[in-house]
Amino acid sequence: MKKFDYDVIIIGAGPGGIYSAYELAQSDLSVAVFESGNSLEKRRCPIDGEKVKSCIGCKTCSIMSGFGGAGAFSDGKYNITNDFGGSLYEHIGSKTAIQLMEYVDQINMENGGEGTKMYSTAGTRFGKMCLENKLKLLNASVRHLGTDKNYVVLQTLYNKLKDRIKWYFNTPVITIDILEDGGYSVTTKKGVFTCDKCIVSVGRSGSKWMSGVCEHLQVPTLSNRVDIGVRVELDSQIFSHLTDELYESKIVYRTEKFEDNVRTFCMNPRGSVVTENTNGIVTVNGHSYEAEELKTNNTNFALLVSKHFSEPFKDSNGYGESIARLSNMLGGGVIVQRFGDLVRGRRSTVKRIAEGRTVPTLSATPGDLSLVLPKRILDGIIEMIYALDKIAPGTANDDTLLYGVEVKFYNVEVETDENLETKHKGLYVIGDGSGVTHSLSHASASGVYVARHILKLI
Ligand SMILES: Cc1cc2nc3c(=O)[nH]c(=O)nc-3n(C[C@H](O)[C@H](O)[C@H](O)COP(=O)(O)OP(=O)(O)OC[C@H]3O[C@@H](n4cnc5c(N)ncnc54)[C@H](O)[C@@H]3O)c2cc1C
Repeated sequence: MKKFDYDVIIIGAGPGGIYSAYELAQSDLSVAVFESGNSLEKRRCPIDGEKVKSCIGCKTCSIMSGFGGAGAFSDGKYNITNDFGGSLYEHIGSKTAIQLMEYVDQINMENGGEGTKMYSTAGTRFGKMCLENKLKLLNASVRHLGTDKNYVVLQTLYNKLKDRIKWYFNTPVITIDILEDGGYSVTTKKGVFTCDKCIVSVGRSGSKWMSGVCEHLQVPTLSNRVDIGVRVELDSQIFSHLTDELYESKIVYRTEKFEDNVRTFCMNPRGSVVTENTNGIVTVNGHSYEAEELKTNNTNFALLVSKHFSEPFKDSNGYGESIARLSNMLGGGVIVQRFGDLVRGRRSTVKRIAEGRTVPTLSATPGDLSLVLPKRILDGIIEMIYALDKIAPGTANDDTLLYGVEVKFYNVEVETDENLETKHKGLYVIGDGSGVTHSLSHASASGVYVARHILKLI
């Protein structure tokens, strides 16, 4: 008689969960995936810019939840690197991490991503150019699927897996419990299900739930960090020499005043600035499409400063949330300011923005970011804009737009071993929910890694 309902239960159908399922599907194991959100075709954000202009706080956010996870409507940039995107390599080794990211890329290419471009920093002149200007270019190969192709890949993967794996959508897992004779039970509103092995891959949207599970099962966690900054938008020609060759360049600057690291993040050549709603807090992000007709004349990227608190204040995410709330209070959402207005110490107005040469791709409230961002962070961002101006002249133009605030929240890091297994045998925590990964490629690679580990045990 079968001891468990499933050999493996995966919680969360983001990239971590999907690539785990994909790999486990090559075996005879019975596998179920429980996901809070909808199946891919039912994922729809009600904001249409006309009837619904801003977030109405859906029970589950279609942008962050459902098949494809937070990455479903993302730009689909798979960065193959250990330089950023998480610290997976610290657990599984640098070589394995890269090999798994390449393997995920291969899956994507076989499932709808073929024909998309792979960019690379290797052998380019930009590394030296950055060093000459007190900047450091991080090494990476970047597969840019684009929001549209990324969706096609997810659709194809789901069609392949839909009959092989049992999918439970709109089924948030409430608790995980350890069974007396080994294995786990997973409680949902649709019932209690048991399994031999449990892979938890709940991403950023599941961060609070994850902390609760760790407390309940007494799995140790480490404190987290938060990244705070702005999204920069400028004429795409200013960065075209970098974006044409590299697509995404991750550049780090060490500030002279405070010796803080400021870094570029999520570069969207000819893309659009968008809002993001995390637990009712509106922050800014960026997209870009592969299709020519959806491209804009602007490039956007974030400039972020990491803050890590330990003692006596440990709530780095709470700090980030407070700053985002302040910008929401002053601007009713996202604030936009011309760089020229910021350095002159004056707010931007509708008129000043309209007279500027950079046409905003997001309708945000003109205001003053210096009333929102702490001086230390703002000074770092201004210093970096002048440093970037040396490698991409025009970055520090008066009409460069800064949107605030951009906040990257991170999950607490869950203590796991080299198999991404917690102190409880058979309970694995992967992807962004583990605090170890912060990207599509690292989250996906962690999924394949754990699936292969489980397959080795049978
Ligand atoms: C707008 C946007 C753009 C992005 N662009 C990029 C990019 O270009 N490149 C890049 O590398 N990264 C990007 N990211 C980040 C990337 O999407 C994440 O790093 C990645 O999705 C993490 O994968 P994951 O599987 O760990 O988690 P997620 O993708 O967050 O998936 C977790 C899933 O678990 C589900 N879940 C949560 N709690 C429960 C529960 N209790 N029970 C059941 N299910 C649950 C959630 O509904 C969710 O679907 C972007 C993120 C956003 C929001």
